[in-house]
Amino acid sequence: MRQKVRCLIIGSGPAGYTAAIYAARANLEPVLYEGMEPGGQLTTTTDVENYPGYPEGVTGPEMMEDFKKQAERYGTEVRSGRATAVDFSVSPKKVIIDNELTIEADTVIISTGATAKYLGIPDETKYAGRGVSACATCDGFFYRNKKVAVVGGGDTACEEATYLSGLAEKVYMVVRKDYLRASKIMQERVMNNPKIEILFEHNAIGLFGENGVEGAHLVKRMGEPDEENVDIAIDGFFLAIGHHPNTEIFIDQLKLDEVGYIDTEAPSTRTSVKGVFAAGDVADSIYRQAVTAAGTGCRAAIDAEKYLSENNL
Ligand code: NDP
Repeated sequence: MRQKVRCLIIGSGPAGYTAAIYAARANLEPVLYEGMEPGGQLTTTTDVENYPGYPEGVTGPEMMEDFKKQAERYGTEVRSGRATAVDFSVSPKKVIIDNELTIEADTVIISTGATAKYLGIPDETKYAGRGVSACATCDGFFYRNKKVAVVGGGDTACEEATYLSGLAEKVYMVVRKDYLRASKIMQERVMNNPKIEILFEHNAIGLFGENGVEGAHLVKRMGEPDEENVDIAIDGFFLAIGHHPNTEIFIDQLKLDEVGYIDTEAPSTRTSVKGVFAAGDVADSIYRQAVTAAGTGCRAAIDAEKYLSENNL
């Protein structure tokens, strides 16, 4: 097993595999570590209908299998394992895999993604892929003319609710406080939308349904003397309570923004450390789409190739 590589890719979502395809075709002989969730967030979704090139749609896991095959076809070495620590203060960079193996890499492409936050109620797992989603742009289409709920009161929740109101018959927003945290303009947009009903001071505590989500159990003014149980009939339950980027091991190594996303020198994928690049959701709190992640993966491989040739590595 090679312990010194020219290009190490951490993470196996659309960004990581696209970086691998480009790096392999540029003869960088990339090694890619799959991480905790091989294939990334897409493996937890069902149908992907908005990735160009699949006119009939494709399932998330199938699509990621295709990405992997394409990366391997050009010589990427895909390994299972998770980066558990890094030292970017040295050259080559050091990346520790599964707390035991040290890889030395001339360039590192970080594509460890982000993870949607969930409420932590057991029904979210029970109905995963059957009415529970954390991405309206990905799954909203399945709820045309149906009723849905969006949990959260931030900009993401308002955006998702507005997007869903273009498809669904009715959109509830389940907001735990008595106000929205979102920006004024987004607040106005949801408040003036006749299809959106905001349920302030409501918490979701469970879901019900035979073969998929048919409704949600809510509690109004939870913990107060006038607490009240409220059930709503819905077909889709969307979480929009934030994402957290998977950057724990980079905290002392790279410049991150205040939420923890990796700062890059846009439009490049360069991070605050030379030779280290970031692609996909780990550096993107806004778009978070498979196709945008793939685009930055391509850029990261091109940036890495340029760095290697400029430094005669
Ligand atoms: P935020 O952290 O801004 O908002 C999260 C929302 O979810 C809050 O209303 C919060 O409630 C609620 N929430 C969190 N945890 C729970 C829970 N356990 N139960 C119920 N509700 C919960 O996250 P966003 O993803 O909305 O936004 C992240 C950042 O990205 C923000 O800075 C935002 O402005 C930005 N953004 C900008 C956009 C734009 O400009 N177009 C679009 C999308 C995001 P509470 O208020 O009570 O804490």
